[in-house]
Amino acid sequence: MVKETGYYDILGVKPNSTPDEIKKAYRKLALKYHPDKNPNEGEKFKLISQAYEVLSDTKKRDLYDQGGEQAIKEGGMSGGNFSSPMDIFDMFFGGGGRMNREKRGKNVVHQLSVSLEDLYNGASKKLALQKNVICDNCEGRGGKKGAVEKCTTCKGRGIQVHVQQIGPGMVQQIQTKCSDCRGEGERINPKDRCKRCSGNKVIREKKILEVYIKKGMKDGQKIVFHGEGDQEPDLEPGDVVIVLDQREHDLFQRQDDNLIMTMAIQLVDALCGFKKTIETLDGRILVITSYPGEVIKPNHLKSILNEGMPLQKDPFEKGLLIIQFKVMFPSNNWLPLDRIPLLESLLPHRQDIMVTDEMDMVELTEFDMQEQSRRYRGEAYQEDEQPRSGVQCQTS
Ligand SMILES: [Zn+2]
Ligand SMILES: [Zn+2]
Repeated sequence: MVKETGYYDILGVKPNSTPDEIKKAYRKLALKYHPDKNPNEGEKFKLISQAYEVLSDTKKRDLYDQGGEQAIKEGGMSGGNFSSPMDIFDMFFGGGGRMNREKRGKNVVHQLSVSLEDLYNGASKKLALQKNVICDNCEGRGGKKGAVEKCTTCKGRGIQVHVQQIGPGMVQQIQTKCSDCRGEGERINPKDRCKRCSGNKVIREKKILEVYIKKGMKDGQKIVFHGEGDQEPDLEPGDVVIVLDQREHDLFQRQDDNLIMTMAIQLVDALCGFKKTIETLDGRILVITSYPGEVIKPNHLKSILNEGMPLQKDPFEKGLLIIQFKVMFPSNNWLPLDRIPLLESLLPHRQDIMVTDEMDMVELTEFDMQEQSRRYRGEAYQEDEQPRSGVQCQTS
């Protein structure tokens, strides 16, 4: 048992989740709440990042499981310092990183929803996105040549300092980005501004990216379009990173290069043999047959060679298709009572026990786990209430 589940709850995973499940949960949430897409969810983005930072590290996760957030703050994170959410994000998505950030624009990460069929057969998808491109009218200067002047509001510093009274004799200095030059320290006289980009140096353009999904690609895999990120004057543009997000499939689950499916068969199939069909992800129909005389037990596993997912490095090779059998038992009273001996004569012999007078005959009744736990909780609650009413009685 873990002490707290807060970090798990933030990522929406169970405390016994695998590192892969935690990674996947982070990936989805981080993209959803990234300030680029959700500017008002900065706090949520930070929490997701902190939860991931702890749970993705075996040592920190152990520490958290044993001692909760307190233990992390005291020991695990060297004084409770978390990395910046952006750094965690960049590290995870292989972004530009700090070193290059000065010279390169930032990377833009997009999630692309794909089906298991897309990953099996390969696909090409068009993705429309908005990006900043250098204004060709002013070549990124924002105005006429020589129109750029030092911002008079901030005297070229790019920041403005406001003094705010926060109490008697107490003032607070707040630094903000200069609103006149947006922190750039220089501005263009309104009358000299480029008409096309209104002095912004860049314009927003719609760009269609064609994403080729190769056979065998995996959920979470990245496809990088180098230099397709936002353009900015004097900066090398960053990349557009497409992260594949595979939707759940109704029938197949993927595990590495294997596919796993559950197949329900009747008791008669399980005992007497069967023929069944499976439709593959490329629309072929496979026929499977059990060996005559073979008994298929509940949860029995079988596999078919070369019918799993194609390998990305060699799409002619495929993994396994693994089938887990679920045996459906007949419902009550399917067999007239007088026919039971007939069936019994065909089945393996039952083991009889000796019943003596010293033994107690008892009744078997149906058991409903959920109903039972509901009832238990209800009673516990009532017990909680009772002492309180007792106290009331004494005082009145
Ligand atoms: Zn322009
Ligand atoms: Zn300014």
